[in-house]
Amino acid sequence: MISVLNSQLDNIPLHHLYDVVKPVTLSSTSPDAKFSNWAKTFVCKPLAVFEPTDEYQCEVILAIARREGKVVRAVGVGHSPSDLACTNGFMLRTRHLNKVLSVDYEKRRVIAQGGITLNDLHARLAEHGLAMINVGSISDQTLAGIVTTATHGTGIHYGVMSTHVLSLTLLLADGSRVHCSRHEMPDLFMASICGLGSTGLILNIELEVEPAFRLRDEGCSRPFEDVVSNIEAIAHSAEHARLYWFPVADTVRISLLNRTHEEKKSNGNWLWDSLMGHHILQFMLFIGRYFGAVNFWATHLAAWLASADSVAVDDGYKVFNLDCRYLQYTTEWAIPYSNTEACLRDLRQFFREENESPDGARTHFPIEIRFSAPDDIWLSPSNGQQTCWIGIIQYKPYGFNVPYRRLFDGFEKILARHQGRPHWAKTHPLVPEDLRKLYPDFDKFITVLDQVDPSGVFRSEYIQRHILGKQVDSRTFKTRRT
Ligand SMILES: Cc1cc2nc3c(=O)[nH]c(=O)nc-3n(C[C@H](O)[C@H](O)[C@H](O)COP(=O)(O)OP(=O)(O)OC[C@H]3O[C@@H](n4cnc5c(N)ncnc54)[C@H](O)[C@@H]3O)c2cc1C
Repeated sequence: MISVLNSQLDNIPLHHLYDVVKPVTLSSTSPDAKFSNWAKTFVCKPLAVFEPTDEYQCEVILAIARREGKVVRAVGVGHSPSDLACTNGFMLRTRHLNKVLSVDYEKRRVIAQGGITLNDLHARLAEHGLAMINVGSISDQTLAGIVTTATHGTGIHYGVMSTHVLSLTLLLADGSRVHCSRHEMPDLFMASICGLGSTGLILNIELEVEPAFRLRDEGCSRPFEDVVSNIEAIAHSAEHARLYWFPVADTVRISLLNRTHEEKKSNGNWLWDSLMGHHILQFMLFIGRYFGAVNFWATHLAAWLASADSVAVDDGYKVFNLDCRYLQYTTEWAIPYSNTEACLRDLRQFFREENESPDGARTHFPIEIRFSAPDDIWLSPSNGQQTCWIGIIQYKPYGFNVPYRRLFDGFEKILARHQGRPHWAKTHPLVPEDLRKLYPDFDKFITVLDQVDPSGVFRSEYIQRHILGKQVDSRTFKTRRT
């Protein structure tokens, strides 16, 4: 189909536009016409779900939304733990906009469509002897999903993944297609590389990559006190240092990743991975829903299973990724790196009090502690500061709910006291007046939104609530209304 000018699209009868996108509009009886995030903690039933296969169809969907006064929410694979991807308006799923468009080994660059998953991107890059520079705990997400939320891996000298974006091609609310970078429309670029899908539809992303590499993962467990009093040395002791804290057991698993030319070496442990690690722990967490004391033993078992010294070597992206186990409630905050020790000590006190109190919250495991370098991206939680990320999880064994609110409320209060900035993809209570104090460029971001989307085509419920301060109930899309 030949793309026509958008002004012309606005003159085409609406029913004709609907006809154009009919082949990519899901039937309301399709299971995919309802959206649920990965953790099944938020669900929505959009007015319509589109799965475009080309850019022209995206233009038409936007033209219909403008005409009908509807919101369009782009969605990747829905791994955001909050309602960030939810909408009662139109949903535009990017699963078919998933191609690699060009790879340049010499310049260490790849251009891919926003809907490609990181798993697919790793495979395509590997064919060219290239790899992403840093990766988080999983690679199921889409490239646009990680860029718009400033998803991070770990490494005190490594920025969040958006710092590797060189340029973007966006489809704006008015249907125009723009290319932006640090040199071309820089404000739009700085807003969009952590823009929560609110500045436009990301069509293509140009990403800096590096020659494919292996990582050596050296692991050991240490008492909390030894780790926290040496946190500075540990964070700097590897290219990518990450820590997993088991609060009840008072131990921390240290995992230090460095680039290496060593042969691959497996760390597979059948007992841990399949029997104990997965099934027995999940069953214990399930029983822990009724008898809180069982969570205590589950954490001790998990800490013990993870306690052996180990060395593994594999392709970088495989070592970065982890088994994130069961569906989960989670929240994660970024604090100035200099507050790490004090914050961890406050958290330890809080978890102790909860675990010792008969009606206190029972912590699962592990608390994830990671690091990132400062950046200048307007809404990046690492903006302007070396950062320590601290994330908490309460598992949902077999998908069942568990109590988590009391624990997360206490956790969030402590992180906020240490100047924490919440991960954008995870649930948090902050509104513009809080965010303005945390982000020096918050108002620049709002200015860009007003410029590129004055009629609010991309202003989903999450954006309305957290960025624009509108009264949109945070329980609107919750599966469990507590
Ligand atoms: C098990 C698990 C592990 C995780 N590990 C990490 C981790 O290690 N580090 C970390 O920082 N985060 C982590 N996350 C969070 C995750 O990286 C983010 O939620 C990410 O946004 C998910 O990508 P997605 O493709 O599922 O995006 P979605 O959840 O579908 O969407 C996220 C946002 O991206 C926007 N978006 C998607 N596509 C486009 C597009 N083409 N144009 C414009 N906007 C778009 C959506 O509108 C929405 O605002 C994890 C989440 C889970 C469930």
